[in-house]
Amino acid sequence: MPNQLPTQARVVIIGGGIVGCSVAYHLTKNGWQDVVLLERKVLTSGTTWAAAGLVGQLWASSGLTKLAKYGTDLYSNLEQETGQATGFIRSGSLRVARTQARKSEYDRAAGMARAFGVEIEEITFREARELWPPMVTDDLVAVYYQPNDGHTSPVDTAKAMAFGARKGGASIFEGVKVTGIGLRNGSVSVVNTDQGKITCEYVVNCGGMWAREVGKMVGVSVPLLAAEHMHISTTAIEGVDHNMPVLRDMDGYIYFKAEGDGLLMGGFEPTAKPWGVGGIPDTFEFTELAEDWDQFEIFMVNGIQRCPALKDVGIRHFTIVPESFTPDNKYMLGEAPGVKNFFVAAGMNSVGIASAAGAGKAISEWIIEGHPTEDLWEVDIRRFHAWQSNSHYLQDRITETVGLLYADHWPFKQPKTARLARCSPIHDLLKTHGACFGVVAGWERANWFAPQGVEPNYEYSWGRQNWFDYSATEHMAVRQEVGVYDLTSMANFRCQGRDAKVVLQRICANDIDVPVGKVVYTQLLNVRGGIEADLTVTRLAEDTFFIVTAGATEIRDFDWLSRQIPENSNAVLTNVSSAYAMFAVMGPKSRELLSTLTEADLSNEAFPFATAQEIDFAYARPLALRMSYVGELGWELYIPTEFATGVFDALLNEGEKLGLKLVGLHALDSLRLEKGYRHWGSDITPDDTPFEASLGFAVKLDKGDFIGREALKRQQEQGISRRLVMFSLDDPEPLLYHDEPIYRDGHLLSSVTHGAYAHLLGCAMGMGYLENPDDVSDEWVAKGRYEIDVEGRLIPATAHLKAPYDPLNRRVRM
Ligand SMILES: Cc1cc2nc3c(=O)[nH]c(=O)nc-3n(C[C@H](O)[C@H](O)[C@H](O)COP(=O)(O)OP(=O)(O)OC[C@H]3O[C@@H](n4cnc5c(N)ncnc54)[C@H](O)[C@@H]3O)c2cc1C
Repeated sequence: MPNQLPTQARVVIIGGGIVGCSVAYHLTKNGWQDVVLLERKVLTSGTTWAAAGLVGQLWASSGLTKLAKYGTDLYSNLEQETGQATGFIRSGSLRVARTQARKSEYDRAAGMARAFGVEIEEITFREARELWPPMVTDDLVAVYYQPNDGHTSPVDTAKAMAFGARKGGASIFEGVKVTGIGLRNGSVSVVNTDQGKITCEYVVNCGGMWAREVGKMVGVSVPLLAAEHMHISTTAIEGVDHNMPVLRDMDGYIYFKAEGDGLLMGGFEPTAKPWGVGGIPDTFEFTELAEDWDQFEIFMVNGIQRCPALKDVGIRHFTIVPESFTPDNKYMLGEAPGVKNFFVAAGMNSVGIASAAGAGKAISEWIIEGHPTEDLWEVDIRRFHAWQSNSHYLQDRITETVGLLYADHWPFKQPKTARLARCSPIHDLLKTHGACFGVVAGWERANWFAPQGVEPNYEYSWGRQNWFDYSATEHMAVRQEVGVYDLTSMANFRCQGRDAKVVLQRICANDIDVPVGKVVYTQLLNVRGGIEADLTVTRLAEDTFFIVTAGATEIRDFDWLSRQIPENSNAVLTNVSSAYAMFAVMGPKSRELLSTLTEADLSNEAFPFATAQEIDFAYARPLALRMSYVGELGWELYIPTEFATGVFDALLNEGEKLGLKLVGLHALDSLRLEKGYRHWGSDITPDDTPFEASLGFAVKLDKGDFIGREALKRQQEQGISRRLVMFSLDDPEPLLYHDEPIYRDGHLLSSVTHGAYAHLLGCAMGMGYLENPDDVSDEWVAKGRYEIDVEGRLIPATAHLKAPYDPLNRRVRM
């Protein structure tokens, strides 16, 4: 261990838990040696030492599954590579389903996981008991076996990575506390410690449950809070063998691991106890919290149900240690918005041992390459807003977050806690009309409307949920008559100044040098031609542009745009999202309806598609954009917030005569998918180019230089080897959500990026990238025989290169 703190380093990692050790290990493995890791006490003394050490490969999404699979692969070789024992045992794991719904979840997840080489199979109860003798199976519906899962010693594994990092050139200092971080020109430049300062180019905040405090040192919001997390280890139990698989009984909130001749049992309770709200004591080091048997009772009851022998054994040790959790139960990775070269890898939600390897690899590649090497949006720190570090919000939400890992992962599942954080001005009006709300980025949004006499509550399932028919009616109203949906959650930015045009022209792939009043649909690309954002730019004046993007990507897109604006240019980007409510009035009768409330001429001649005008409307003066994300004639009204209620009332009054229907966001999703419109984050990501996503129509290679142009030109010359294709299921019954495997001529080729039910067509639809280095021509796509795996059944599917609904885009121009 070196004892002289350097005065300079390229990268300073804060925190010597398993995540910090992994980041150091991966940076050095990738050739960066000038790396310093600072730990305030001793390595692993925060949360890492207390972990049960389960390392599972299967998670609720393809992205997390890929990262976790890398973990088991690395840990199984780490000892050989570093010469340091890790305690990794590839014991395999069992997961049991107590309900048919849980079986459906696992059947879907198993299909998704196989696509990444994660082995999982359903086994008989007898086989399960042979693998795990103390288990009772009478009450189960199914058991699944994953031979490649395992468990590891968290301390030894972290130390093996630290050892590997040191061998690779990193310096690790224990007993050094970071007390501040300095910036120069918006970029990190110095780390202050209680033993001197280190100038540096990059800082990685791996501070575990301290990461929120570390973030504050540089004005970055890291929304996480600790909760008490616990397990017990028992005295000997007959039939327990230390090589027995890990057992997960998620319906009972519990997991088991063999520990010597006894068991270690822990879990994820539905109502957790936040900890450290007022701060973490400075003395914290291998600290355990007071035993709380009341909190553990739910695990004990369920544990005895699964393993009755627990009733009669002694407890060797009851461990309660705080672990950090985030508002959505996913960890946080990436360069923080607003501060250059300040990276975060924290908030591991009690899967930090399983995920540290993947997280460390991802962050080190991100630092070295300057961008993530694979799409990480699901865990990207830019999905969070600054307000989400609010401690009242975190306290309320974290009580629920802990349990989410083992709760049913229903499609469309909504949180119960910390609601009503961000509401549209017409929230209460929507409520009186039967809205059932869901949450995105804290926004309460009407997802569907319950008719009179029906409770607006979700009844979750993997089949048609209780709102399916109501949403179908909303969908058809937009196709055939007129509907209105509230999308006040959309993010709106203004880019203004002498250089605004030149700056945006360099950032956007489409040509935004258009006449005032024109709306341009465009992607923002990275230098590799990948899609960083998907939005519209409206020219309001020669030097003023209005940018509209999704609420979910508000922080990410604002950060991306801000970073591309050259320092000396005269262009100011302002987030004006709170200034506007937005109602979209869509459907063949939208012109007729809107005309009752405005004297503006809404004809095709006076107000063509893809244009915008400020119009008098009811008593207000909204900016009306003639655009559509549902594939019908319609206008989006951007209304100064204080006028929103009046405009909505007027719309409802006039709309009554024309059969106006209130439409929720589930219908918006099914409408856009039926029309083949892409959604950033699922169908299009930084790893996909507009050519691959069939969005070439929005790219203007000949307009002059823009970010990504060179890459696209190369791709245009070389041709593409993958392309986004739409699929409709030939059977009207099964449903698609995301990640379902797509087979071509019997071979697994891809998976669904996003699926929904196309109510007009009467079947589920999904999109997916087909890859073939030799040929992805129309003919090759058309020649294939396609099937999509839904819960283990291969459902025949039809590939579409153009949306089967209105392929010539006539309806938006009606
Ligand atoms: C009971 C329990 C069971 C668990 N079981 C599992 C499991 O089976 N599988 C699994 O994958 N995960 C499990 N976990 C979760 C896992 O332990 C954590 O996710 C993981 O250890 C988090 O690692 P970390 O490096 O982010 O945080 P930590 O290990 O807490 O490391 C952060 C470090 O940063 C240091 N630090 C903070 N501030 C500063 C500063 N200003 N200057 C210098 N250093 C600083 C701290 O001292 C600390 O050592 C479990 C957790 C608990 C509590």
